[in-house]
Amino acid sequence: QFTPDPQKKTLVILGTGWGSVSLLKKLDTANYNVVVISPRNYFLFTPLLPSCTTGNIEHRSIMEPVRQILRHKRAAVKFYEAEATKIDYERKVIKISDNSDIKGTINETEVPYDFLVVGVGAENATFGIPGVREHSCFLKEIKDAQAIRTKIMDCVETAAFKDQDSAEIDRLLHMVVVGGGPTGVEFAGELRDFFDEDIKKLIPEISPRFKVTLIEALPTVLPMFSKQLIDYTESTFKEEHIEIKTKTMVKKVTDKTVEAQVTNPDGSKSTLTIPYGLLVWATGNALRPLIKDLMSQIPAQKDSRRGLAVNEYLVVQGARDIWAVGDCAVAGYAPTAQVAAQEGNFLARLFNNMAKTEELESRVAELSSNLNLKPGNVAEITAEIETLEKQLRRIKDVKPFNYSHQGSLAYIGSEKAVADIAWLNGNVASGGKLTYLFWRSAYLSMCFSTRNRVLVALDWIKAKLYGRDVSRE
Ligand code: FAD
Ligand code: NAD
Repeated sequence: QFTPDPQKKTLVILGTGWGSVSLLKKLDTANYNVVVISPRNYFLFTPLLPSCTTGNIEHRSIMEPVRQILRHKRAAVKFYEAEATKIDYERKVIKISDNSDIKGTINETEVPYDFLVVGVGAENATFGIPGVREHSCFLKEIKDAQAIRTKIMDCVETAAFKDQDSAEIDRLLHMVVVGGGPTGVEFAGELRDFFDEDIKKLIPEISPRFKVTLIEALPTVLPMFSKQLIDYTESTFKEEHIEIKTKTMVKKVTDKTVEAQVTNPDGSKSTLTIPYGLLVWATGNALRPLIKDLMSQIPAQKDSRRGLAVNEYLVVQGARDIWAVGDCAVAGYAPTAQVAAQEGNFLARLFNNMAKTEELESRVAELSSNLNLKPGNVAEITAEIETLEKQLRRIKDVKPFNYSHQGSLAYIGSEKAVADIAWLNGNVASGGKLTYLFWRSAYLSMCFSTRNRVLVALDWIKAKLYGRDVSRE
């Protein structure tokens, strides 16, 4: 039962993603009145999201209900399924809105805070390119993966329709992925697997017409990986018949085509029109309106473009009592789950320490006043004060946030993965089937709960034994 304690500060946490949930996991909730606000009442293990688009993993296997997470905390935490629509930084309140399908009589209200942690992530970047929002699928949330899964099968079944026009079959079976970052690459690999392992067996007559094209504006895919692994990915994609079009920037999207500008080897530009059946847009992150609005309220944020600029303790620069974690924060690191999780862990330590400091300081103050009241116990009380002050010095000496990069991993299809792993003081690059086994075991062990781990492992076994489920929901 959550009953706010007037003696305690109210800590509001926005979001239930990597940053916020890592904070919640390690936070001693008995020290604060903790309130969590998120439009999503679950944590999503994003690294396995691309596998949900083809049914290799069922979506519920990588979701963990936030209420389940909160049930195990030492003190009750309040959760509101709502979107924060405005952070009123002057008044220290958050406006929240229930954007779910079912509405009560009250759909909007305010939540006051003493301390605020913003972990709302980012939205999909479209760079204002016309047609992207209307015609493409993104790959960030569960509903995106479900929409892609449905659309793949819709394209396949429509292509298999009696007397279907030949050019239309080619268009419908052309799956175009824009963005050669890890999201685009992993999705392209999963898609190819799906066709090679399942569709080929089930609808052999159309499978030779199936085609995957990955479009990337830069000269290579996976720019964050080492050159050796980029080459390995590109050659693996060639073997898998995934066409990579680099130096190709999409400029416009219509319901059936993408228009792209290609930079030719001689430096000249040409325009390419590519028909597609399914278009997946994976060009990285953009700021959420909530973050843009908060930045506009804080003069110190005026030069920050990619998110809330934070200091080495993850405090939002120019703001009082606001911290930020993950993709909405700019701390000098890439927007990854690894960074967000470490930032969340760091803030848990920071908040636990802050509470402990307050507790110790009030105990020291109490003992100091006892010094005059109990002259017989002076030596004993002084010794206790000294011990507490030593503890206080240790606790107050919190080191700034320091990210420790464990490496990068990506699945590239045909049971192959690439990995750049931090090892001793260097880096080990590896790619292939063994790396794929490492990828599987690493992600399995990183799943949020034992329940998730078991479900994911069962999904893999199920897909191997019976194939992916191709029913269109
Ligand atoms: P998120 O995890 O996105 O969580 C944001 C939370 O805020 C969500 O709960 C959301 O519902 C909530 N929210 C949104 N708006 C509001 C609002 N207005 N009010 C309140 N709450 C709000 N990174 C890796 O390191 N390794 C990987 O293998 C990897 N794979 C990925 C695969 C895919 C397909 C994708 C899309 C990303 C992947 N990433 C990976 C990146 C990683 O998922 C992100 O960097 C990470 O999720 C960022 O964590 P976060 O807490 O900032 O945001
Ligand atoms: P990203 O930002 O890494 O890559 C997006 C790519 O899209 C860029 O290479 C960019 O050049 C390209 N692009 C942008 N506009 C384009 C256009 N108009 N036409 C063609 N190409 C265009 O995005 P992401 O892959 O979604 O990843 C987002 C973050 O999540 C990154 O930090 C990434 O490291 C992380 N992530 C990690 C993993 C993993 O570790 N396995 C998986 C997914 C995501």
